[in-house]
Amino acid sequence: MIRAGFTLIELLVVVAIIAILAAILFPVYITAKERSRQAKCFSNLKQISNGILLYAQDFESTIPPVWESPSRNWPILIGPYAGVGRNPQYRIETDIYTIFVCPTQTAFVAGTLWQKRTYGMNTYTWHDWKDYIKTIDQPRSTSRTCLVGDGMRIYTRARDPLPTNYAESIDGGDWGYYPEKPHFEGTNFAFFDGHVKWLKKYPDARAGDYNTLAYRTFWMGK
Ligand SMILES: [Zn+2]
Repeated sequence: MIRAGFTLIELLVVVAIIAILAAILFPVYITAKERSRQAKCFSNLKQISNGILLYAQDFESTIPPVWESPSRNWPILIGPYAGVGRNPQYRIETDIYTIFVCPTQTAFVAGTLWQKRTYGMNTYTWHDWKDYIKTIDQPRSTSRTCLVGDGMRIYTRARDPLPTNYAESIDGGDWGYYPEKPHFEGTNFAFFDGHVKWLKKYPDARAGDYNTLAYRTFWMGK
């Protein structure tokens, strides 16, 4: 006798197999997608750190300011050195997928012009800090001091009169502008020697790392 179709049991088995395959493959797909975003973020930071190093060569090793004014802050100043044109403001305005935005964090980008970025420069390079890192070759170990990295999504400090969702700078506790961990619960960092690395952990005051040598090396360049 020739059967004219599936029995209910056969159909259920097929559906179950498809469901199991989907359950196995979907996380793989998600992981692959995030891997490619992380790779783009990595190359963004590489381009940014190269831009900062080239900028420093033209200005007696001085690091561009984290912030002085809308026309004098690091993303604007390194634009020509990082290959994104003379005025990256406009690129940032029209296309948020520039080198200044981490592809995993695009949903958090808001604000206008220079605010459209998710990377933060090390806060200890800020001129407000008492013994700030002024030059690119100042850290004791340039390969171990953080220059730029995945910045935080939301400011937690109420006294800041700034928009709540863009990165300005990053540090491990003094200002509380902690780096974000968008990539497999880790952060992409560029260091003073120009190399980029993904780290699961960074020296963090909340974890009791403040005043340790690791903290001072990573953040203060000591
Ligand atoms: Zn990133």
